[in-house]
Amino acid sequence: MDSQLSLAEHYDTFIAAYKDDDPRAVAAQADISSRPHPAHSGKPNRLYASDVGLCPRRAMLRLLRAKDKPLSRGDRLMFHLADRMEQDLAAMFLWRESLVEYQFEVNINDRDNWGARGDVIGDYGVVTAVEFKSLRPNNFPAWKSGESEAEHEVRVEKKIKKEHHLHQGRIYRQYRNLPTRLCIADRGGSNGMRDYAVEGDFATTALIMDELEACRRVLPTLPPVLDKVLGVYDYGKTIKLQQNWECGYCKYAGVSCTPLSGSETWARRDGKYEPWRPTGKADETKLDDFLQKISEGVP
Ligand code: SF4
Repeated sequence: MDSQLSLAEHYDTFIAAYKDDDPRAVAAQADISSRPHPAHSGKPNRLYASDVGLCPRRAMLRLLRAKDKPLSRGDRLMFHLADRMEQDLAAMFLWRESLVEYQFEVNINDRDNWGARGDVIGDYGVVTAVEFKSLRPNNFPAWKSGESEAEHEVRVEKKIKKEHHLHQGRIYRQYRNLPTRLCIADRGGSNGMRDYAVEGDFATTALIMDELEACRRVLPTLPPVLDKVLGVYDYGKTIKLQQNWECGYCKYAGVSCTPLSGSETWARRDGKYEPWRPTGKADETKLDDFLQKISEGVP
């Protein structure tokens, strides 16, 4: 497989071939989509690589089999589309005759009762583990006036690199001993696929795994509700401290967990390129830290 092209570019060439009715591309997609989803281990109290870096209380509620909200029609559609894009990624490797494993197991053999299953292992010049993720469109920043393409790409990459995805990728890299990449799709369809290498030290990931194990040991006592976080709202004119974004997408919110509510405005400005004016409620140190992060393109 031509390693001069990025994985994302290979993905593009595959979907173009599929749309053009390339018989091998169509057959590869049919082959992958006919494969059944592997069964879950069903082992009680099992933690997963995908729990690492997200709300520990949510992971513990899952272990306790707490009541949750049913999926909405929109959620179901979103998961279905993500599933289809993940299949296309595997089909791309099959089409290129370089698929090594689809839905690969990760044996976390030095810890008790952990599980992980990644999406694809393919030969991409070097055999590589690949995890597919889709993100909401607001994770892909718009062009700033005067910005070069390279500068824009740096901002996009910072924004789409999610720490919890990196933890998951580091677990694959550590236990399968393979270079690992993440393929990121914009669910809104305004951006092409992007991919990046999983970097960073496994030690930080291991510490979070330790913390989750510590939470599991004291169940049914739950870890605390997530703190509120700062975010930019009102088309870039207000910074507010409000509910953690995770709570907004959590299936236990309002059913088995009551997230922190209420909103405090910490800064305002008149236009997108005007300076911020802190309000009396702002913790200026935390606000400065947040402003530094957004100037670097994160969060
Ligand atoms: S509602 Fe928020 S704090 Fe509660 S479990 Fe969900 S993500 Fe965690």
